[in-house]
Amino acid sequence: MAVQNKTYTLVKCRAVADIEKISENINITIDDNGRIKSIGSEIEGDEIDCRNYVVIPGLINAHTHSAMIALRGYYDDAELQEWLRKMWEFERSMSKDLMRISSEIAIIEMLSSGTTGFVDMYFNPEQLKELSNIYKIRVQAGYTFLDNLYDPYLIDKLQRELKPEGYFQPIINVHSIYATSKETLELANQLSKELGERIHIHVSETRREIYEVKKKTGMFPVEYLNSLNMLDRMQLVHLGWVASWEIDLIREKNAIVTNCPTSAMKLATAGFFPFKEMLNSGITVTLGTDGPASNNSLDMFREMKNAILLYRHSYWSTSVKAIDAFRSATYEGYKLLKVKGGKIREGYVADLVLLDAKRLYPLFKDRLISHIVYTATGDMVKAVIVNGNMRTKDEILERLPKLIERLHRLLNA
Ligand SMILES: [Zn+2]
Repeated sequence: MAVQNKTYTLVKCRAVADIEKISENINITIDDNGRIKSIGSEIEGDEIDCRNYVVIPGLINAHTHSAMIALRGYYDDAELQEWLRKMWEFERSMSKDLMRISSEIAIIEMLSSGTTGFVDMYFNPEQLKELSNIYKIRVQAGYTFLDNLYDPYLIDKLQRELKPEGYFQPIINVHSIYATSKETLELANQLSKELGERIHIHVSETRREIYEVKKKTGMFPVEYLNSLNMLDRMQLVHLGWVASWEIDLIREKNAIVTNCPTSAMKLATAGFFPFKEMLNSGITVTLGTDGPASNNSLDMFREMKNAILLYRHSYWSTSVKAIDAFRSATYEGYKLLKVKGGKIREGYVADLVLLDAKRLYPLFKDRLISHIVYTATGDMVKAVIVNGNMRTKDEILERLPKLIERLHRLLNA
C-alpha cells in the first residue's frame, strides 16, 4: 500500500476528525506535493478504500530523547536528580552506533504509533537528520548544551555546521538551567539570535530546581530566563512548578510550552503542568512523551490521556477536556514545527493517521474525540501518511526485529 509522490484519494473514510470538525463517509484527495487537495466526494488518482479507517492528523511528539531507547528500563525507580546522575554516567561512554540504532528504533516506534514529527534533545542530530529523511518523519533536533558532558564552545561550533534538510530542522538544545552555567546560557542565546533557531530547554521540573535557581539568582526559573532576554525564542518543557506571573511572562514573550505528564509522574516530580491556565492565556501548548527512559513509552495516545488525568487528579477539576489534549498533540505541535498542518483541510500538509475503525466502538460522531483520547493506543494505528507518503504499519515495522537484534549485540558488547 506504500504510496509516494503521486495524487491519490482516501475513499469513503469511515470518519475524519480534527480539532474543528468530524465528517463521515468522506474522501480526502492528496496531491503529488504532499498536500491535502480536497475533502468531499471528489476522486483523483489511485483509490484507497478507507471504509474501515478513522482518519486524524498525525501526532507531534514535542519532546523526547530518541537515543535513550538504549536506556529504557535501565534505572526506573529514582527521582530526577539521582536518575539523571545514572543516565549521565551511561551517556559519557555511549557510542555513536548505539545512539543511531536507538534513534532508529524510536523513529519506527513513533511512526508506527501515529507520530509524524518529533522534537529531540540529544547528542546525535546529524544521525537524526539522515534518519528523518530515510524514514520521512519530521524532526527538529540539535546539539545539546550540557556542561558536565560537553564543552559549550564545541557545541556552539557543531551547531553552526548543522543545516536544515528535507524533513529535518535544526534547533538549539539546552539541557536545563541547573546543568549549564550563566555563560553557557548566554552563549546559547547569542547562537539562537545569530542562527534564528529556537532554544529547547527543560525548565521548572522539580521543586528542588526552583529552590536552587532562586537561591543562586534570586529569581524563579522562567523569570531568570526572561532576565537573560531569551524567553521569546524558547520552547519550555515541563513547567510542573511554575508561578502565575511566570505564565504571564511566557504569554507576553510568546514562548511555546510542552507538557510531559507521564515523565513528571514517573520521576515523582510532584509537579503538574497548569494545562488549563496555559490554554486560557492563549499560549501554544504542546505535548511530549519525554524519553524512553523516563516514560517509558513513546505512544502519544497514552500521553494525551495522561495529560488530562494528571490535571484532573491534581486540580480536582474536569475543566481540561479530551479536545484540549487532542489539540496539543496535533495543531499546536505543527505550530512548533512551523509546518501548516494539524488540521484536515485543503492546503494543509497530508500528515495523517489511519486508525482501525473497528476498534473504536460504539462509533458515533459525538464520541469520536473521546475514543481517540481515552480509548485508542498506538496499537490501533493501521497506516501513517507524512507529507503525502503513505505506509502501512507492517511496512514501517519491517526492519524492527533486525534493529533490535543489533541493539542487543551493542548493549552486550
Ligand atoms: Zn526531557
